Amino acid sequence: MDVRWREITSQRNSFAALYAACELHGYHLVSSSIPGGDVTLYSLNSIQAPGYLDEISDASCITVVGGPHATACYEELVDVADYVVVGEGEFTVPRLLDRIEHGLSPPPGVATRDGLVQVDHSVLLDAYPSFSEYKGYIEISRGCPYACQYCQTPCIFGHRMRHRSLDSIRELAKHFKQIRLVTPNALAYGSDGRHLELGKVERLMKILKNDGDRELYFGTFPSEVRPEWITEESVELIRTFCDNKKLHMGVQSGSDAVLSRLCRGHSCADALSALDHIRDGGLVPVVDVIFGFPDETDEEQEETVSLVREVCKSGFVHAHRFIPLPGTPLAGTRSTPVIPEAEVALGSLALAGKVTGSWNDPELRFFRRVPY
Ligand code: SF4
Repeated sequence: MDVRWREITSQRNSFAALYAACELHGYHLVSSSIPGGDVTLYSLNSIQAPGYLDEISDASCITVVGGPHATACYEELVDVADYVVVGEGEFTVPRLLDRIEHGLSPPPGVATRDGLVQVDHSVLLDAYPSFSEYKGYIEISRGCPYACQYCQTPCIFGHRMRHRSLDSIRELAKHFKQIRLVTPNALAYGSDGRHLELGKVERLMKILKNDGDRELYFGTFPSEVRPEWITEESVELIRTFCDNKKLHMGVQSGSDAVLSRLCRGHSCADALSALDHIRDGGLVPVVDVIFGFPDETDEEQEETVSLVREVCKSGFVHAHRFIPLPGTPLAGTRSTPVIPEAEVALGSLALAGKVTGSWNDPELRFFRRVPY
């Protein structure tokens, strides 16, 4: 069967992972800039999706759509695609291809116009390499026990953290001289996602460094860390084993009231304490913030501006505009306008090279990210 993968730049890591998963089952995906072959696979996020719906609907081949948007909005997508993969794809996609090839009904985890067959599994990371022919980042952990109200991650991957074993990571790391990782929280490796297990993180770092033979970027693009996991000890570990001079943490708001409404599970004091540990440990902080959460007051945005100014004394800020993603508890809400004071402050700090991001255009954060 001729199976194509629709090329979409931001979905390269998904392609790497699904190529490897399908290869294990005898299907070799062919990357393509147009739909074709017997079947074409799409992975879409919620921002890109509208731009591909007509193409999918008009395609003369069988179409399969997965990714965050498909999981969140499968009921809409079954009107344009033949099959919609809901949730993780590594086990479901090859299984679906096999069913298509043999003229059978779709497996669990797939929606069609006839309805959704509920998924019957969750993926063990060790069962699938992060990549094979096409290189991707090494995914060390999946799932998140937190429930940040704007985030699709727990909606797609669940609240229980799953980790790739050290043996599997060691094998994947052999392909790199410079290592970057995919995980919701790099410091959570080996843990339940709530309690730091520094011994396991240290063993991971030693394996990845391979006696200094490789560069290791940890707690920086494309993953980050949560503030309350940043301690004197965890910073020391990063300083000892890793090559990044910056540490990237998500804080999102300088207001405790907003953090509480978002169910972030940490406070502003946690963020300030983390900043101190990063600076004292000789690293440079990079902090993510979001403006325009629903019902965010002017005063709450001013508190975030204060946090931004504090971070910029010694580090950098990525500022984003809130976007209500489908499938999240905040889906369907509206972004609050960014106050003029915040616009002015962010603009002048951006001119000074301290702030980057897309606080005026929420869609940009899905297409562009500056690597550190
Ligand atoms: S923002 Fe991060 S910590 Fe919060 S739910 Fe998403 S992945 Fe988990």
